[in-house]
Amino acid sequence: MQIGGLQKLTLIDYPGKLACTVFCLGCNYRCPWCYSRELVLPAEIKKQPRILEKDFFSFLKERKDLLEGIVLCGGEPTIDKKLPSFVKKIKKLGYSVKLDTNGSKPKILKGLIEKKLIDYVAIDIKASKEKYEKVTGKKVSLRNIEQSIKILKESKIDFEFRTTINPLLKKEDILKIAQWIGPAQKYYLQNFRPEKTIDPKFEKKKPYPNKYLLEIQKAIAPFFDVCQVR
Ligand code: SF4
Repeated sequence: MQIGGLQKLTLIDYPGKLACTVFCLGCNYRCPWCYSRELVLPAEIKKQPRILEKDFFSFLKERKDLLEGIVLCGGEPTIDKKLPSFVKKIKKLGYSVKLDTNGSKPKILKGLIEKKLIDYVAIDIKASKEKYEKVTGKKVSLRNIEQSIKILKESKIDFEFRTTINPLLKKEDILKIAQWIGPAQKYYLQNFRPEKTIDPKFEKKKPYPNKYLLEIQKAIAPFFDVCQVR
């Protein structure tokens, strides 16, 4: 597994658990507003120091009494073929695993759920259907996204939907997303950060004011049990 970074402690990325976050390298999307280009663009990935798997597992063994969970984020963790065997090793140590995914690989997601290798999923819904390719910068199989949504809804796994309100999205797009994915248990909105974006033009764009996000949250809240701005 290609590990590009490790945050040794997070109190906020895994709901209800003390966790560490593993940053996986590579992504199949090119969201122009993305602020993790060092984990996405091949030229940047080359420059990124790697964490050896054996060092990571030594760390997990040492922290066994302190940490409860591992967050796998990226990039996009599901594009790495070694993900299932990597997660299996984490589970053997007794940790809970949260997967952050863009939902583009439903078969991998299903396999991980069926084998009980993951405990929580945060799935990014990047845009309304019409805007998906504009917002992700790639040709996207909406069928795959819809399958991932269905798999999660039909499973017993704890999961959340979330969307980053980047400058390509407006209130009406989020309303369309809510109608698409709702009714559902949890949906979180997070604001865009204009930092080291894949398309440098986005570094000059201003995030929407929090007031606008709260206005959207109020409009879509009826579709969800929990709907919050993060
Ligand atoms: S924001 Fe887009 S490009 Fe960036 S890591 Fe997520 S899916 Fe990949």
